[in-house]
Amino acid sequence: CGIVGVIGKSNTTEILLNGLEKLAYRGYDSAGIYVNSQTGQDYLVKEPGKISVLQAAVGPEVQGTIGVGHTRWATHGVASQANAHPHVSADGRFYLVHNGVLTNYAELRATYLADVQFASETDTEVAVQLIAKIAHDDQLSAKEAFRKALTMIEGSYAFVMVDRDDPETLYVAKNKSPLLIGVGDGFNVVCSDALAMLNETKDFIEIHDREMVTLKKNSLQIEDLDGTFIHRASYHVEMDA
Ligand code: GLU
Repeated sequence: CGIVGVIGKSNTTEILLNGLEKLAYRGYDSAGIYVNSQTGQDYLVKEPGKISVLQAAVGPEVQGTIGVGHTRWATHGVASQANAHPHVSADGRFYLVHNGVLTNYAELRATYLADVQFASETDTEVAVQLIAKIAHDDQLSAKEAFRKALTMIEGSYAFVMVDRDDPETLYVAKNKSPLLIGVGDGFNVVCSDALAMLNETKDFIEIHDREMVTLKKNSLQIEDLDGTFIHRASYHVEMDA
């Protein structure tokens, strides 16, 4: 399983698909991408099976300046198109990829999301529906809804989320699943393993467990779930793609 994300590049789709191929060694049963052009057009393409199946399903129109990609190793729900990531909230606003296992998803669903129409059998969809529900009911920004949901979610996760209403930010978080930021000049990336992004950058920043990152093309902000900002230097990888 694996995650890639990019903001601030024009060849987003190519970077995501190449990155997913580099993560294939980690094992997977489905793959998908979400790409947003910031001009009203966005694209969700996901398929069970090989990354080549996904590549064949991605038409030339799938272009944008922000995007996320995912390879899934199913833990909750069979390998199917509906269960493949990215998952989208019922209101169509939030797109989320996840690696890991959420241990309290059934309880969260029964307690807070009993009236929500689900499209998949995954634990992951509970997270994205919860974020949307909090943003709507509590009138919180995407970032604060993401933060509040993270305080409620238990289990392991690497998460990357896009808000369709404001596609200039990647919302990133991790707990016990690998995830790294890759730093560029005028762009930033996120990935499960630096290998996936060595064509784009050699400079990476670690994310620690229970931290969240707000990633824009020219900035990144790491903080803990209480809102304390964290400054962490990047490290340089001497390796070729
Ligand atoms: N638990 C999630 C699912 O079954 C994510 C699995 C993964 O890490 O790829 O969809």
